[in-house]
Amino acid sequence: MDHAHPVTGQEFASPVPPGTGWPGDPADASTPVAHDADDVVRLAATADLPSLEAAVSVCRACDRLVRWREDVARDKRASFATEPYWGRPIGGWGDPHPRVLVVGLAPAANGGNRTGRIFTGDRSGDWLFASLHRVGLATQPTSVHAGDGQRLLHTRMVAAVRCAPPDNRPTIDERDACAPWLRREVALVEGSLRAVVCLGQYGWDAALRTFRALGYDVPRPKPRFTHAAEASLRAPDGREVLLLASFHPSQQNTFTGRLTAPMLDAVLGRAASLAR
Ligand code: SF4
Repeated sequence: MDHAHPVTGQEFASPVPPGTGWPGDPADASTPVAHDADDVVRLAATADLPSLEAAVSVCRACDRLVRWREDVARDKRASFATEPYWGRPIGGWGDPHPRVLVVGLAPAANGGNRTGRIFTGDRSGDWLFASLHRVGLATQPTSVHAGDGQRLLHTRMVAAVRCAPPDNRPTIDERDACAPWLRREVALVEGSLRAVVCLGQYGWDAALRTFRALGYDVPRPKPRFTHAAEASLRAPDGREVLLLASFHPSQQNTFTGRLTAPMLDAVLGRAASLAR
């Protein structure tokens, strides 16, 4: 059954078929679909940013995650029963020439998987966007849905794994299958980067792996993750990109006070100062 999009009012099936008018949908019916990990490698290898965003958004390489994201989209959580669910992978979002890159783990089943935008529609995202706005990296304090007018400033956000995983835990195979999308995206935007904000240990490790694979000089032994940790990465052409760590703004971390708003603002504010 179709439901009306909360911003535009247009009716959509769940999951949303590509090219049917969802705000910001980068794909259409002709976008090539990756059906396995080899397809991801092949399609990512030569993609430019628009074709990468499109191909990511229709990827079907991981059977378990495709099943999960689409089951969640069809079944819908009770509080969102009358909304359409995106139910597709979540691409990177924001400035195509970013100075700041924010790297997270994966979209939430009833968050990004519902709204079609990274970190949008769940409590973690509420924390993150409020902080991005406070430090001057987002135009609005909230991000509720694709099409709500929110814009990132000098900033791009990416997830290491682009589909919502059950229990927020992708397998190693799923992480590795998705890695070429992340590598290609970072390769396409790294020339303008000054800072990379890594949310949680997962984001930290994914960023270190990705930049090392792209030929950056990454400190050894691997820099240890902790809140407000920093590591200097050196690009092959000598530019420095600073890796900044933050505890993930998960509900568990924010409810328990392990991560407070001033702590998150301090890390994102550091990134913002590097972006100016
Ligand atoms: Fe494709 Fe990544 Fe989703 Fe796997 S997790 S289906 S590789 S987008």
